[in-house]
Amino acid sequence: MPTSVVTGGAGFLGSHLCDELLRRGHRVICIDNLETGTLHNIEHIRVPEFEHRNLDITEPYFIEGQIDFVYHLASPASPIDYLRLPLHTLKVGSYGTHHTLGLAKFHRARFLLASTSEVYGDPQVHPQPESYWGHVNPIGPRGVYDEAKRYAEALTMAYHRQQGVDTSIARVFNTFGSKMRPHDGRAIPTFLRQALSNRPLTVFGDGSQTRSFCYVTDLIRGLIALAESGYHDPVNIGNPDEFTLLDLAQAVIEVTGSQSEVVFEALPVDDPHVRQPDITLARQILGWEPEVDLREGLRRTIEAAGTEALVGAGAG
Ligand code: NAD
Repeated sequence: MPTSVVTGGAGFLGSHLCDELLRRGHRVICIDNLETGTLHNIEHIRVPEFEHRNLDITEPYFIEGQIDFVYHLASPASPIDYLRLPLHTLKVGSYGTHHTLGLAKFHRARFLLASTSEVYGDPQVHPQPESYWGHVNPIGPRGVYDEAKRYAEALTMAYHRQQGVDTSIARVFNTFGSKMRPHDGRAIPTFLRQALSNRPLTVFGDGSQTRSFCYVTDLIRGLIALAESGYHDPVNIGNPDEFTLLDLAQAVIEVTGSQSEVVFEALPVDDPHVRQPDITLARQILGWEPEVDLREGLRRTIEAAGTEALVGAGAG
C-alpha cells in the first residue's frame, strides 16, 4: 500500500485529494495546522489508513516510516487569506517548502508542488503556456502569494537538479467545488452564496476580465496523474474554457434559479485581466483533460455541499 503525505490536507483541495488517494488504496498522512482549513473537511474520514497531524510546516518537521508521495498543498490560497497573512504566506512558500522538500528527499519520495497560475501574474501572453515567464508585480499586495509560489518553484527545481529529488510542479488554475468556504472571497463561492440567498451578485470592475474554472474532481485527477508521471518541469492543470466574470455571474444565477441582480464594485489592485491555461502539455504527457463543464460543475457543487453550507453563517 503506497503512503502519501498531503500538506494542507484539511483545506479545500487537500481534503478532496485525501479522499481520492484513500479511494485509490493509499495510506494518507494529512499535515495541516488548520490556519485556513478546518477539521470539518476531514471529519467524515474514519479509516485506519488516514491520520491528521497538526503541524506548522514553517517549522522543521519529520514523519517516520515509509513515504512514497509528498503532495505539497499547504499555503493560504484565497486573496482574503494571503492579504491577512502576508508574512505567513511567504514563510509557507519558503521555509515550508524547504522542510517539505527535505522530507521528500529523506524518504526518496516523489514530490508534487501545488503551484498556481498566479505565477503568470497579469499575463501578456494568452492563453498561458508553461514556457511563459509571467508578468508579476513583486511589491503589490498580491506579491506575497505570487512570489512565494515563484520561489517555491525555483526551490523545487533546485532540489531536483542539485539534490536529485524526484519533483513535479502543478500550476493550478482556478478550481471550484464543495468545501470552498462561502466567505473566502473567491468568485464562485461568493456568487453561489449571494445567489442562493437572493442577494445581489457583486462583480468587480465591469466584469469583462476573464477566468477559467476547473471542477475539483478534474483537478485532483490531474494532480495525481502528474505525481505518478516521471515529469519534472511545470505543467498547467486547469480548464481552458474561458468566461468573463459577468458570464460566470449569469451562469450561477441560471443554475441556482436565483432572482438576484448583478451589481458592480471597484476592481482590486493588480487583478489579472485574463487567465486561461494552455493545457497542450498536460494532454500530451498525462493524457489528461477536464471532463466537467462550468454549469455541470456548479450543479455538482450545490448537490455535494448543500445550500446551507454554501450560504454559510452571516449571509450577505
Ligand atoms: P485552502 O486554504 O483551503 O487550503 C490550504 C491548507 O493549508 C489549509 O488547510 C491550511 O490550514 C493549510 N496550511 C496553511 N499554512 C500551513 C502551515 N504553515 N502548516 C500546515 N498547514 C498549513 O486552499 P486551497 O484552495 O485548497 O489551495 C491548496 C493549494 O492549491 C495551495 O497551495 C494553493 O496555492 C493551490 N492553488 C489553489 C487554487 C484554487 O483555485 N483553489 C488555485 C491555484 C493554486
